[in-house]
Amino acid sequence: MGLTGGCMCGEVRYELKSEPFDCGWCHCRTCQLNSGAPAMVFASVPDGDFAWTKGADKVRSVHSSSFGHREFCGECGTPFLMKVDHQPETVDFSVATLDDPETIAPEFHIFWGSKIGWFNPSDGIPRHDRFRPDTRGLDGSEPPG
Ligand SMILES: [Zn+2]
Ligand SMILES: [Zn+2]
Repeated sequence: MGLTGGCMCGEVRYELKSEPFDCGWCHCRTCQLNSGAPAMVFASVPDGDFAWTKGADKVRSVHSSSFGHREFCGECGTPFLMKVDHQPETVDFSVATLDDPETIAPEFHIFWGSKIGWFNPSDGIPRHDRFRPDTRGLDGSEPPG
């Protein structure tokens, strides 16, 4: 069985069918508003490798940018997924929703340029003011989906 996770109220559960990759912090304004926290940590899996195992009918979706949307528990609001039109082959899930979030650790920061001033991570991982240089399709001015 792969890594598992779920929401605050327990109505929605998921399983990963492969190992997640590209784990990183995002400090964009959309993530701040989506989470109510200074930043979010996402990791990626191939589309189809993130599978709802309970409560798929409770999952809601919201357009969070012109090219992306986010999926969350419609009962308790826990944010699960970000999907971006430019990268249909992968989905990004919020790492803190894993049952064991320490399984994977962030390797970089993106949107450091919109980091909240009093939030001061002291890790030594790379910091990018916006997207990472090799990010496909996402070089505009908008934050990630
Ligand atoms: Zn929930
Ligand atoms: Zn973000």
